[in-house]
Amino acid sequence: MRILIIGGGIAGSAAALALDKAGIAVSVHEAHPEEGADIGAFLTLASNGMLALAQFDAAEAVSRVGFDLTTMRITGDTGTVVSTVPLGEAEDPLRRYRCLRRAELAAALRAEAVRRGIAVEHGKRFVSAEEDEEGVTAVFADGSTARGDLLLGADGIRSAVRSLTDPDAPAPRYAGQRVFYGYTTDAAPPSEPGRIDMLRGSTAAMGYAVSPQGETYWFARVSGDELSRAEIDGTTPAQWRDHLLPMLRPDATAAAEIVAATGERLMVTNASDLSTVTRWRTSRMLLIGDAAHAASPATGQGASMALEDAVVLAKSLRDAPTTEAALDTYEQLRRPRVERNIVSSARLTTRKAPNRLRRTVRNYRARFQKPGPGPSPSQADDLLTAQLDWESPLPVPAPSGN
Ligand SMILES: Cc1cc2nc3c(=O)[nH]c(=O)nc-3n(C[C@H](O)[C@H](O)[C@H](O)COP(=O)(O)OP(=O)(O)OC[C@H]3O[C@@H](n4cnc5c(N)ncnc54)[C@H](O)[C@@H]3O)c2cc1C
Repeated sequence: MRILIIGGGIAGSAAALALDKAGIAVSVHEAHPEEGADIGAFLTLASNGMLALAQFDAAEAVSRVGFDLTTMRITGDTGTVVSTVPLGEAEDPLRRYRCLRRAELAAALRAEAVRRGIAVEHGKRFVSAEEDEEGVTAVFADGSTARGDLLLGADGIRSAVRSLTDPDAPAPRYAGQRVFYGYTTDAAPPSEPGRIDMLRGSTAAMGYAVSPQGETYWFARVSGDELSRAEIDGTTPAQWRDHLLPMLRPDATAAAEIVAATGERLMVTNASDLSTVTRWRTSRMLLIGDAAHAASPATGQGASMALEDAVVLAKSLRDAPTTEAALDTYEQLRRPRVERNIVSSARLTTRKAPNRLRRTVRNYRARFQKPGPGPSPSQADDLLTAQLDWESPLPVPAPSGN
């Protein structure tokens, strides 16, 4: 079997590594022309993401970028510490939460793929595909084509592959918050090695962590109208700083000090998500990562979900008797988990559920929530660990009858 992977971000590169480990030939086709310096957003990779990375032997490569997070401290707007809790599997260095830039994570995974001899092509913007009985042909914007047995759409929230698997899929939805993020070496907020501080401000929810090199990574989520492209592109970091500071100054936290000390490396994006994408696949195309199930950033799980996707897909194709059965198994195992994350994240992002979110919640309940109490958190953890564990055969669920 040969699999074409469209998109060399987190989901695509991780899938390449996991499928390669399962003995499947893969190639990655990424739209960006070359590796570039992208300061972009940072993210926290949770223990479940690190566990997934370990299954295809990439945890060590990723732990060379970013830094460990071992505790989270929550502070209210009055400056009172509400709680300090350990994060995930702090005692295991390869399963600790990590703080790193999204681009660094994707670049580390791509470099690992290249090191293992996987073909990674840059400058290949996917535009369309043709399926036939023998296989699938991807067509790129430069006129070139590639042929495989299966095509994975790992091309992010604005997926071009999704327009083929589910032409009626909803467009990404503005989730109700703007997310600011930045980096500064000129602030000295209260901090301890390995701690991420969450500040429950009166207007903005902010988080920050200080790297071992003394650089403060921060984000702030602020409710408001969706920003237009022109506003995002036409507003300078200094103007965003002036916009944010009056919201942060009333709070007795380090929020205003950090933002005031941030120079040019201050950015903003709209928090977006996808309500249910009904069709993740055709017979020879499958969506993974944000292309299938983008959540707003609030739960901090999108990247970890993409890494889990990679493992479960590789195990499905390794263990199921046919490709069709593998893709069914993959979808049955993944949908409940990723859709629950979309719903949880949307709830943290919007105060008033708009219609689309209500529909996602209703769909989720109708499809996945069984009457009576669900699995306890520890049972759910055990189930996930078994699904991810490379050595265990996949626990294939009973057919859902859908
Ligand atoms: C502000 C912000 C903060 C976040 N914080 C966190 C966090 O703390 N923790 C967490 O786990 N997640 C977080 N996320 C979510 C996380 O970034 C995403 O879930 C994750 O990047 C999804 O990976 P992906 O590979 O599916 O998509 P992407 O990372 O979007 O990668 C898609 C890739 O496909 C390529 N591509 C696109 N179109 C084409 C095409 N037509 N042809 C070929 N290639 C194409 C793109 O260039 C890109 O390389 C955050 C997201 C945002 C926006």
